[in-house]
Parts: sequence; structure tokens; C-alpha cells
Amino acid sequence: MRILITGAAGFLGSHLSDRLIKDGHDVVGMDNFITGSQDNIVHLMGNEHFSFYKHDISNYIFVPSKLDAVMHFASPASPNPASPLAYFNLPIQTMKAGALGTHNTLGVAKANHARFLLASTSEIYGDPTEHPQKETYAGNVDITGPRAVYDEAKRFAESLTLAYHRQHGVDTRIVRIFNTYGPRMDLDDGRALPNLLRLALLNQPLTVYGDGGQTRSFCFVDDLIDGIVKLLYSDEHMPVNIGNPVEMTILEFAHTINKITGNKAGVVFVDARSARDPQRRRPDITRAKDLLGWEPKVNLEEGLMKTIDYFKMKLGIA
Ligand code: UDP
Repeated sequence: MRILITGAAGFLGSHLSDRLIKDGHDVVGMDNFITGSQDNIVHLMGNEHFSFYKHDISNYIFVPSKLDAVMHFASPASPNPASPLAYFNLPIQTMKAGALGTHNTLGVAKANHARFLLASTSEIYGDPTEHPQKETYAGNVDITGPRAVYDEAKRFAESLTLAYHRQHGVDTRIVRIFNTYGPRMDLDDGRALPNLLRLALLNQPLTVYGDGGQTRSFCFVDDLIDGIVKLLYSDEHMPVNIGNPVEMTILEFAHTINKITGNKAGVVFVDARSARDPQRRRPDITRAKDLLGWEPKVNLEEGLMKTIDYFKMKLGIA
């Protein structure tokens, strides 16, 4: 297949590009570098199976050659207000990427009779009142809160994707992505893993927001990409959760990072939780197991070891 990937210079988009090229496909990457990085795709430049366009997908998209699939991964995605890359700080760009960008990429898929896959998010569940989150749960999103620009844009994107499927017969897929980590994460994007792992490698105390009792589950990027590719190859049109179901508190997560890195500086509790920071989050992955035969294979310790090498390289630590 010849596959357009928007957000190809991002954390997930670049891993997806690598995997699809490895599977024998041609990838057309697109990114405007608002949060993506050239470092993530520099190794693909010159590869005959990869081409690249610098473009803002909230504007009309033109790709001259015929496409077989379109995967829409472009969006600011960091939830941490401390980061300049956070969607809190890029509210209009975030809404445009999820709304106009989804409209434009669906248009490209329709014109090419191509398969379409939308990168959606666990954020569409908001601060969930149902736990773990199944795909049937409608969510608890604060429409006017600071996270709404991301959450509501992705909710709109899902509805628009299904509208194109139902009205125009576009062959669509929707993946709801839960917290993911691994090499090529932006060290400064303010999320829990980059923040805490960077601090641990610098032998500093890990900043735990609030009392650290809020929970998440962390999926290693290779597992996540494998689930997404299986969904692309499937014929499932309704949303599928992809994420790791091993839930832990952020305090437990911080202790694990300190243990693995040998950091003796402990943790420090700071009052920095962002508004409507979800209290609990864990995917119900029954649909992914039943429909795709997928479940994550990499445990947290293994995944952290693989991520540490990348962080050390970026931090210049031997
Ligand atoms: N968090 C933390 N310390 C940090 C960064 C994040 O305790 O240095 C917490 C944050 O408040 C949230 C959780 O870790 O409850 C996960 O945050 P992240 O930004 O990774 O993404 P989210 O799951 O909120 O979308």
C-alpha cells in the first residue's frame, strides 16, 4: 500500500512510518513541525519507500500520487500546561488539527478510495465515571475546561469519521490510544514519563503531582503500533481501545522509575495537577483481543530499559 501518515514527524507517526515501511509499504509523511521533530524522521530521508511533505493539514491537502490508506496522527497531544507544546498552549491549532485536519484527511481518503484510520484518544472519556473504560462508555468531558480543545476535537473527529463511513462508504477505522511511552518522546513535553525519567537520570527528586493517587497504565510504543497496524489490516469500523491494561498510581510509577534507574533522590509532591486531570484511567481491551488478537507484550521494566537508552543519548549521559 501507499500510505499517507499525518504527524509523521511525531512520536507515534514516526514509529508507525518505520513499521509500515518494514511491512513492505510506501509511506508519504506529512508534518508542519509544530510539535513534531525532524530528528524523528531523519533516518528515513533518502529511503526510497518514504517521501515527505511539510504541510499544515488544517489547510487543503494535495498529494499527487494515488494513496491506498490515510492515517491521521497529526495533533498537539501533550496535556501538561508546563510544556510550550501542550494543547493548553496551542488551543486553536489543536482544534483545527482534530476538526479541519480530520475533514481534509477524510476528503483525501474519499477521493483516493483509500482506507482511513483516525488516531483518537482515551481523552475522549474525560474524567471517567466508568472504570475500566470500554468503547461503549460515552465519557465525562468538561466542554469548557482547558482539556476540551483536545477532547472535543477528537470526539468531533470520531463522529466525522463515522459520518464519512456511513454517508460516503469510506473504509474507516478509529483507534483510541491510551498513555504510551518509548524512544522519540519529546523530553520536554511535560508528560509523566518524560518528566520523571529525565529527573531520575539527572538524580533529582521526581515531581509527583497532587498525592500521586491518580492512576494510569503505560503502553510501550512497539506494542501500541502493533495494535494500530492490526486494526488497519482489519475491517473493524467502530472504535477500538489500544493501551496497556496494567493500572498503577502515579506514585507507584515514580517509585518504579527510581528503582530501575537507581535514583536515590526520591519523590517530591507538588501542587501542579492540571484542571480536570483524570483521576483514574485504564483501558478495557476486550475488543482489541477479540477482534484483532492483540494484547501488549512488553512489561513496564522492559519498556523502561529500552526508553532509558534513548533518554541518555538525548541528555548526553554515557
Ligand atoms: N504527572 C506527575 N508528575 C509529572 C507529570 C505528570 O505526577 O511530572 C501526573 C499527571 O498529573 C497525570 C499523570 O501523571 O495525573 C499522567 O500525566 P500525563 O501528562 O503523562 O498524561 P495524561 O494521562 O494526564 O493525559
